[in-house]
Amino acid sequence: MNYNKKTVKDIDVKGKKVLLRCDFNVPQAKDGSGTITDDKRIRAALPTIQYLLDQGAAVIACSHLGKPEPDFDKWVKKQTEKGKDPASLTKEKWEKSLEALCMEPVAKRLSELLGKPVTLAGDINVVNDDVQAKAAALKPGEIMLLQNTRFNKGETKNNPEFAKKLADLADVYVSDAFGAVHRAHASTAGVADYLPAVSGFLIQKELDFIGGALANPKRPLVAILGGSKVSSKIGVINNLLEIADTIIIGGGMAYTFSAAQGGKVGDSLLEEDWKDYANDMVKKAADKGVKLLLPVDTVCADAFAPDAKSQVVKAGEIPDGWQGLDIGPETVKLYCDAVADAGTVIWNGPMGVFEFDKFAVGTKAVAEALSKTSAITIIGGGDSAAAVQQLGYADKMTHISTGGGASLEFMEGKELPGVACLLDA
Ligand code: ADP
Ligand code: MG
Repeated sequence: MNYNKKTVKDIDVKGKKVLLRCDFNVPQAKDGSGTITDDKRIRAALPTIQYLLDQGAAVIACSHLGKPEPDFDKWVKKQTEKGKDPASLTKEKWEKSLEALCMEPVAKRLSELLGKPVTLAGDINVVNDDVQAKAAALKPGEIMLLQNTRFNKGETKNNPEFAKKLADLADVYVSDAFGAVHRAHASTAGVADYLPAVSGFLIQKELDFIGGALANPKRPLVAILGGSKVSSKIGVINNLLEIADTIIIGGGMAYTFSAAQGGKVGDSLLEEDWKDYANDMVKKAADKGVKLLLPVDTVCADAFAPDAKSQVVKAGEIPDGWQGLDIGPETVKLYCDAVADAGTVIWNGPMGVFEFDKFAVGTKAVAEALSKTSAITIIGGGDSAAAVQQLGYADKMTHISTGGGASLEFMEGKELPGVACLLDA
């Protein structure tokens, strides 16, 4: 995939109507009040929005929010599958479920942050006569927001008619929703069939850093891979094995590697079906001359709990009834040494159950080591980003990806539809 894409700076947007796809998929309070519990994603979109407004563009912003089901029958089916009593599944309840995912709270917060009005327009179809009229009347320096793009049934199906309806509102398409570029939806990819399409600053940054690290890394390139399961990281391991000089394995998936080599892993996370794969990877790395590091010791616990009893044992020697929840102190030393003289480090997947303080030690030590290297440090994956933030190292990293799923697919080397559709630089 070509990561070199045109950005908002490469085109003239003065006096133009710009359809801007943002990632305003913000978490909201469970009480149905619409209260936004974390507005980080809205804040992250401000530089591109402000730039466009300052340049004299009229901005028509859009985003999805949550997972609404715009088809009543399908909603009933899904709820029934979740175990809800079909008799209780009324049209009113379905409408309420959609109402809970309306964009009002986003428009309000965006308006507060920008210090100017943000007109919200649209209904279940997203684009209707009112939206068309309001978009046509929008002046340079003004901004409006469309309703949740997933209210339209055509959004997730990448329906060309819906994509064209969105495109017809504007002269130019700017995508800044990195968190959604791995999905070929009408508002993330389809619209680019009808409009000149460029990236905003958020996507540009992701392409520069992650794309740069994959395509032309400053060496040595060290990939740190952890997290819970081998099976969810196959694509990432496979791709990075082709590129990296060193691969470090930690987290829950290390126990499948250990078991594959005949180690005892007690009650640790283990994917029996992936043991052969793990052995293949070790062999493949050796064939390719890629250094593959596995834990040499582990912190194991007598329960999966924050206050569990714990002990350090050698890798592959976890007693029955115990489970590995973190890398051990010798492994920490080994891994910190391995990143010390790296040119680039790509990190995906925590080294242990960092959600429990007691088992966050390995993840914290690795974050600390990264903060001290002169290497380009790139963090991908939702939980990894959360871990680095929670442990207080966020501002010490070169780049923390804003897209969980998107960054994983990026690191897997997959083509991202929402990027591929943009104009090449
Ligand atoms: P990311 O979202 O960054 O891609 P993953 O979703 O793969 O990361 O993994 C994150 C999860 O892995 C965390 O919730 C963490 O608690 C869990 N994890 C890490 N190490 C272990 C372990 N030894 N046992 C069980 N879970 C683990
Ligand atoms: Mg995750």
